[in-house]
Amino acid sequence: MSISLIGKSIGESATLKLNETFAILKAKGENVIHLGGGEPKSRAPFDAITTVAGFLNSGEIRYAPVDGTIEMKQAIIRYTLDNYKVKVEPENVIASSGAKQAIMVAMQAILNPQDEVIFPAPYYVSYADMTKLCGAIPIPVRAEDGTFYPTLADIERNVTSYTKLIIINNPNNPTGVVYSSAFISDIVKFCEKKGIYLIMDEIYHKLVFDGIKVANPYDFVTKDFETSKLILINGVSKVYAMTGFRIGWAVANKKLIKVMSNIQGHQTSGPSILLQKAAVGALNGIQSPIESLRCTLENNRNVLIEQLKTIDGLKIQIPQATFYSFIDFSAYFKDSTQLSKLLLDKVRVLTVPGIEFGAEGFLRISFCGSIKDITEGISRIKWVIDPNSANELFIGQRKLVRERN
Ligand code: PMP
Repeated sequence: MSISLIGKSIGESATLKLNETFAILKAKGENVIHLGGGEPKSRAPFDAITTVAGFLNSGEIRYAPVDGTIEMKQAIIRYTLDNYKVKVEPENVIASSGAKQAIMVAMQAILNPQDEVIFPAPYYVSYADMTKLCGAIPIPVRAEDGTFYPTLADIERNVTSYTKLIIINNPNNPTGVVYSSAFISDIVKFCEKKGIYLIMDEIYHKLVFDGIKVANPYDFVTKDFETSKLILINGVSKVYAMTGFRIGWAVANKKLIKVMSNIQGHQTSGPSILLQKAAVGALNGIQSPIESLRCTLENNRNVLIEQLKTIDGLKIQIPQATFYSFIDFSAYFKDSTQLSKLLLDKVRVLTVPGIEFGAEGFLRISFCGSIKDITEGISRIKWVIDPNSANELFIGQRKLVRERN
């Protein structure tokens, strides 16, 4: 059997694989805690459910327009106006099967083989593989000062004549960092000056804590919308807790959106009409579920950080947004894959190795689960790595005893 070069270069999604592992262990009756998750646990908004239920009852579920239904586009246009203060037209918008597909078709519309795509590291797991799917080359960039905050100079150092696209994920998965307004301004202006496409992946933009504001990239755009190369990505997965509905979107200049639609038309056709109905219900409905989710997550974050602080030697950067923390465990373990495996094997706690996001020595620990899971999960982790913690640990009925040497 011969497999394509691109096919061979693509790895399994580490985070989706973890969900599978969790489901398998759960089905076996194991007492496993998922601190690697990427989805809020709250119910989808009531307005999403009622809208889709009514439509489903009609029994007439047909193909949707390739780039989204008119009402979906209208809802996105309003969302963009409300949140970004720009008024776009239906031809500036494409709805896709998740933000993931919106990013993917944008990349396919932009990239030629050998083009280079720059994004700050740590980065969202899929950016590198999506880039490779286009035959292009991922260029992850670490901040020179070792923080999670790259500067324009860090990015600029990696720009070559092949650089076609920069991706900024603000707020950031996996670090929970919100980039400064100055950085967003720098990067928007730089991309404009150089004619480089800029994807702003803002899928977490409303799950922000401590009163911090996420900069609006359009505040720094000086070009006319139709000549601007800024592509804004959003979706219902995180902010509305609707991961399974698979609706995301892109807003960009009309020419690019047309090419993206052509590509999507041959890939999946339009996103499911049923799921677009639900997304429209969420976008046009009562918005209080977002604030309620945000508050829950902020509280979860506080609990997680308090728990983590009880483990000596960890380097903790407090997340300002999202539902992820990215914790430096290198004082204990240099190899994050090994550590993540040890935690799963020994105490049945799932975490994501930092190496999957381009940073070794870290673990991504989510706080989108219950407080009980967070506290119990961290106490299990502490038991494994901290030699000064108690001699015994109970996982349900199972008693673990520390091996002393
Ligand atoms: N971008 C980022 C940064 C994400 O974390 C995710 C989901 N984990 C996505 C895009 C994809 O979202 P969707 O579920 O809408 O495909």
